[in-house]
Amino acid sequence: MRTPFVVGNWKLHKTIAESLALVTELKNQLGSLREVAVGVAPPFTALHAVAKRVEDSSLAVAAQDCFWEEKGAFTGEVAPAMLRDAGCTWAIIGHSERRQFFGDTDEAVGKKVKAALAAGLGVIACVGETLAQRDGGATFQIVEQHLAGAVSDLDAAVVDRVVIAYEPVWAIGTGRTATPAQAQEVHAFIRSWLGKQLGAAAAASIRIQYGGSVKPDNAALLMREPDIDGALVGGASLQAADFVAICRAAKPS
Ligand code: PEP
Repeated sequence: MRTPFVVGNWKLHKTIAESLALVTELKNQLGSLREVAVGVAPPFTALHAVAKRVEDSSLAVAAQDCFWEEKGAFTGEVAPAMLRDAGCTWAIIGHSERRQFFGDTDEAVGKKVKAALAAGLGVIACVGETLAQRDGGATFQIVEQHLAGAVSDLDAAVVDRVVIAYEPVWAIGTGRTATPAQAQEVHAFIRSWLGKQLGAAAAASIRIQYGGSVKPDNAALLMREPDIDGALVGGASLQAADFVAICRAAKPS
């Protein structure tokens, strides 16, 4: 019922030329994959070139962040409408690196989500606990807090453009993946929270990606869990062969 969605978050990697080389390889290798939606999130500087390169394919282009204002004296920021103008259809919002290094609060994440949706973008809203929070038994509390900040009062009309990425911070870039059971437990919690806030139909249709050291050799088992609907992939999305293998592993069996 939910088409799995796999997105490569390239973070602070790749020039325009490197981005074009990678996305061209992805386009060639993923052309025949129908049952999985795939997207890439290049750095801002490469968004337009990448979007042009994939406009005759089903690959989607996502920004790694956006600001909530449309225009004005906000040096360094990029507005959602500018991202659409550059060819993006999605924005990743609330990634743990934004929260950790750039001070994105739950309130800021909520404002960004609303602005992105209002501008017609789809949103990948990231939630997830640190290791200390997990060890302290606060996983569900933190995930709930992140969800409440990001997506608590959404209009039913936009839920098809909302994706949640559960990314335990202790698993991002560490090589330490949540087990399928650990991930599924939190994904089921997220879906049940969405049901209470947005209704059963929205909860059943919203895709929940897992992110945190997803690799070709662990993707299939994670993707088999009933509430895991794809992946947000960092490190392994920088090599075409690895990312393609993960996309293929997300194909429903
Ligand atoms: C991410 O940054 O969203 C991520 C999941 O990174 P990695 O796959 O490298 O852990």
